[in-house]
Amino acid sequence: MSGFVVWFTGLSGAGKTTIANIVEPELERRGLVVDHLDGDIVRTHLSKGLGFSKEDRDTNIARIGWVASRLARAGAAVVVSAISPYEEARRHARMLVEQHAPFVEVHVATPLEECARRDPKGLYAAAFAGEIEDFTGVSAPYEEPSDPELRLDTTGRLPSECAAEVIERLEELNLLPVREEVS
Ligand code: ADP
Repeated sequence: MSGFVVWFTGLSGAGKTTIANIVEPELERRGLVVDHLDGDIVRTHLSKGLGFSKEDRDTNIARIGWVASRLARAGAAVVVSAISPYEEARRHARMLVEQHAPFVEVHVATPLEECARRDPKGLYAAAFAGEIEDFTGVSAPYEEPSDPELRLDTTGRLPSECAAEVIERLEELNLLPVREEVS
């Protein structure tokens, strides 16, 4: 089975990490070698020291895109969850990956109001209070993907339902091994 990259993009609190954390073990269960590059974790290692200016965000996404393309080339199913707010940076990541493997962009399109209502990390409260500069959706842009392979609004839905939709899309794209029917 050849590798691929499934790239979750969306606002903070949209549900990227939560859904990716369900998709990852499901891919493993199907026998794939899987890695998960999560924006928050990458920023503590590979991108330690980078901030949230456009330049630093572009550098962060370029690094993730490069690593993802290498892993996919080696045959891994790579799950990326990162805000990745800039269209051009996502396009560049897609270009790197598509030299070797399919790139599946999943826009986790939860509206800002719902993300702010959830506020799992308390960041929206701080951003609306003017305490965080360059906060995506509040004081920094989020450029919506124009043509993602899948768009998911998670509002009023369970994470497991959303993850199942991602798996279904990967099946449609013939990226997953066919499951054997139990007879
Ligand atoms: P992100 O990675 O996009 O910043 P997180 O996954 O960290 O977002 O947080 C999303 C929050 O939304 C979590 O608290 C999660 O439990 C909640 N949530 C509610 N419904 C859903 C859903 N359908 N899919 C994903 N997350 C959901």
